[in-house]
Amino acid sequence: MKVARQPFVVAGGLVFIVGLIGVLFYELRSLGGAQTAEKVKVVLDAKAEAEARSLTTKNRAGQIPVHRIAIVGDGIAGAAAARNIGVPVRVYGGKSRWEGLLGLPEVWQTDLSVFKSANLEDPVVFDSYARGGRILRLAIIAVAQEALVKSGAEYLRTGPVTLHSSPSGAWKLVDADGHVELVTEALVVATGLLRPKRITDVLAADKSYDPRVARLDLVAAKMIMSGDEYLSIRAAPPGLGQIIGIIGGNGSASDVAIRAIRDAGAKEVVIWGGIDNDLDKTIGYIELIKKYGDKICRVEDNVTKVVFVANAIQVSTSVTTPCKSLSSGTAKISPPVDLLIESMGRFDFDPPELIQQAADGRQISYHPVIASNRLIGVRVSFDAVGDQPPNPPIYLIGAAASWLPSNVHLPPGDRTAYIDGRNLTLKYVNSTAGMENGPPSFAVAAFMGWQLATTCLSKGVPAPGAPCR
Ligand SMILES: Cc1cc2nc3c(=O)[nH]c(=O)nc-3n(C[C@H](O)[C@H](O)[C@H](O)COP(=O)(O)OP(=O)(O)OC[C@H]3O[C@@H](n4cnc5c(N)ncnc54)[C@H](O)[C@@H]3O)c2cc1C
Repeated sequence: MKVARQPFVVAGGLVFIVGLIGVLFYELRSLGGAQTAEKVKVVLDAKAEAEARSLTTKNRAGQIPVHRIAIVGDGIAGAAAARNIGVPVRVYGGKSRWEGLLGLPEVWQTDLSVFKSANLEDPVVFDSYARGGRILRLAIIAVAQEALVKSGAEYLRTGPVTLHSSPSGAWKLVDADGHVELVTEALVVATGLLRPKRITDVLAADKSYDPRVARLDLVAAKMIMSGDEYLSIRAAPPGLGQIIGIIGGNGSASDVAIRAIRDAGAKEVVIWGGIDNDLDKTIGYIELIKKYGDKICRVEDNVTKVVFVANAIQVSTSVTTPCKSLSSGTAKISPPVDLLIESMGRFDFDPPELIQQAADGRQISYHPVIASNRLIGVRVSFDAVGDQPPNPPIYLIGAAASWLPSNVHLPPGDRTAYIDGRNLTLKYVNSTAGMENGPPSFAVAAFMGWQLATTCLSKGVPAPGAPCR
């Protein structure tokens, strides 16, 4: 008996040792990746501090430094632009939204092949345990930071910067520390998305209903928050044993649903609204259904009213549609929810804040910058007022260029060029993975930063004619 059992004991021991080596290897690789990302951050932090000190000294001595080109925004788009201009330029950054998303360890990504073309590091270098369709959020941050270091950018992290027209027409940039500089030739704005939409942005008021009142009551009761807020909570987020309602069925809703079920221990999640185009074909969404689909129920219709009465949330749609299980498709009446998460995309009625400041009441015009039929950015101009000298062009790239606000001027031909160009950009960056990389995605941000820099600002010399002016 003893002899017969021995091979199993040896085999069991071997499995254990191989497993142990595997775990140690995995841990060491993770540590290696994390350390590399940390090193990049330390180098960039030191650079930012030195630049801030130097600018303080200059401003105190009465000097206002002048730059030909500057970039505002230090995400993937701004970093890709800095990396590809070919000469070091001033880059302003601020508090990163991405660093704050502590409840979102991984982002959806299967195809970041465009990073290579854009001279950006493969995020896998900073993510030793990257797997499947997901990559560490910290790895994406490290890619941007490394590109800023490698570009030799004169990097300041003293944002948010504000933008004003100076008497000469040059752009005057004032940072949160009160530093002042001028930009004379071109300004690249890569400031990302605006805030998340709230129910008050989308629900219609009538004589007897005001969504602002409903939202205020829900906020006071701590029963509503945005997806960004939910994903920024480091400890277990609220929802243990509860039913979480999510308004909006986009990619961010999937992030929230995972967080609610996996990390908060929610009993069930109810999602209202149609899902983004082709999202259901992405690896991330398919994974979501496989793992958590039986705990997620979706109502196809959009929400038309949210009411808070007697400490209970009532959510209604224009017609009563059933809530269908994501895994089995079984329909039921949607259950009452304990907490509402707003996940309806981003506020897109206005241009980026910096553009609104720069306009200072003037009419804003958008001009799509198209190269090889693809959208690589948006040039912004302002109507002349009196004999005010013209300002240098502003180029929007990345997420900041991903929406068309209703109050900007755009001739019909340009609108079509923008939409067609954006579609071809999406096609380019989604070479293998369906439509996982949407208009505001890391891949599009990298593409635009790279393309605008090489087409319109190569070697720090703004290109004079089409497509840049
Ligand atoms: C919750 C959430 C989940 C997402 N998940 C994914 C995903 O899984 N995959 C994906 O591809 N995309 C995802 N996105 C979209 C992604 O965030 C954007 O596509 C991407 O970050 C765009 O890069 P960007 O460089 O244009 O802007 P950002 O990454 O937003 O960078 C802009 C930077 O500019 C700085 N800044 C802003 N204003 C100023 C100012 N006035 N002065 C100085 N600095 C300023 C900010 O500090 C910020 O660091 C997600 C977005 C959100 C909100």
